[in-house]
Amino acid sequence: MTHIITSLCLRDRGCIEVCPVECIVPGEPVEKYPWMYIDPDTCIDCGACIPECPFAAIFPEDEVPGAYTAKGGEYISKVGLTGHFEVTNHHGTHIALETVKQLAAGEVVNLRDDIQPNYDFFKSGPGYGAKDQDKGI
Ligand code: SF4
Ligand code: SF4
Repeated sequence: MTHIITSLCLRDRGCIEVCPVECIVPGEPVEKYPWMYIDPDTCIDCGACIPECPFAAIFPEDEVPGAYTAKGGEYISKVGLTGHFEVTNHHGTHIALETVKQLAAGEVVNLRDDIQPNYDFFKSGPGYGAKDQDKGI
């Protein structure tokens, strides 16, 4: 199994540092790969990344919610969305995202749709090569 970063990820980056096998890669370019991605072949399912995420975006693969019910006010980030979000990340770097949507209380989202993009990032996308393009955002 692996852990999965879902579209609740807003690139805070806190998870990257705690991963003992360094298998969390920042997506680049951001417009095409808006999250951090976990290499499913390397993740040892230790769970250390989960409490580091301020947006509760990380789940063990078999616990990714198919019907995530929004508390209201949280954001999802996905290619094709057009909302704007700004935040200061774990390192104090300012981040602006342009592919987000704010969820209304009670809105239901299928986060299991976010599993395959994580696998694709390493199979057919940039994978670890994205680290070379990393701008710290
Ligand atoms: S800590 Fe959460 S929001 Fe930040 S990069 Fe990791 S998964 Fe994304
Ligand atoms: S579960 Fe552990 S090994 Fe897997 S991505 Fe998170 S910190 Fe890394």
